[in-house]
Amino acid sequence: MATTALITGGTSGIGRAVAGKLAELGVHVVVVGRNVKRGETTIADIRAAGRLADFIASDLQDASSARQVARKATELGNGQVDILINNAGIYPFGPTHEMDEGQFDKVYSLNVKVPYFLVAELAPQMAKRGKGAIVNLSTMVADYGASGMSLYGSSKAAINLLTKVWAAEYGPSGVRVNAVSPGPTRTEGTDAMGEGLERLAAEAPAGRPATADEIAEAIVFLATDRASFIHGAKLAVDGGRTAV
Ligand code: NAP
Repeated sequence: MATTALITGGTSGIGRAVAGKLAELGVHVVVVGRNVKRGETTIADIRAAGRLADFIASDLQDASSARQVARKATELGNGQVDILINNAGIYPFGPTHEMDEGQFDKVYSLNVKVPYFLVAELAPQMAKRGKGAIVNLSTMVADYGASGMSLYGSSKAAINLLTKVWAAEYGPSGVRVNAVSPGPTRTEGTDAMGEGLERLAAEAPAGRPATADEIAEAIVFLATDRASFIHGAKLAVDGGRTAV
């Protein structure tokens, strides 16, 4: 039976690059997003290359949508999900006094609550089988106080701690939990940032934004057995920004 990976936000940017790379390794990928057209195009491309892919259309925003997606993916995976990539995320920037409660709730729902309940649903199944891998998407701005990043940065700082907690909770049962912490990356989602992405990237030794493929390489590494002794790590893939 093929290994099955659930990739939230697997229909765009970093998530889609991860889906393509895992599928190339023979993994059955299940991608999630709201936009059905984008989802169907993503899986059609993967299937056209002779690989296994399915799409679940869902607006992930609470425990119930997360649990439903986890259950559907488990069915599609013939009873198991072996790899979970908590990738879907939103990143509105702006000063704290300009953020309203609706934005606060949306960011924390998708970036924290949904990964939390996906793990709650899937990690125990993986632990029962004695094997599994979870990779959470963080960000470099969860590691320092960047102006305008209060909501987004703090939501991903929660993910950084959850990565370690989940490694402690499920690692002894064979489930590896790690995070990748990207720097500015060109995706459909960051298109709207225009020059702002370049300016942010210019602060790092690499001096340029990453491609989605460059981030996906690190995620795939942590999701597969090549990273078999890595638990609870946060891998910075930020062109060196948090090193200097
Ligand atoms: P992106 O291009 O904006 O794509 C986001 C994906 O998430 C899409 O597939 C989108 O599909 C899905 N999504 C958004 N809201 C959703 C919802 N409510 N329910 C279900 N799916 C939803 O994203 P990206 O730039 O590749 O970023 C991916 C991850 O990396 C995020 O967690 C982000 O915070 C992190 N990251 C990105 C950067 C960067 O510079 N790009 C840097 C650091 C960290 P639909 O729109 O169809 O729902």
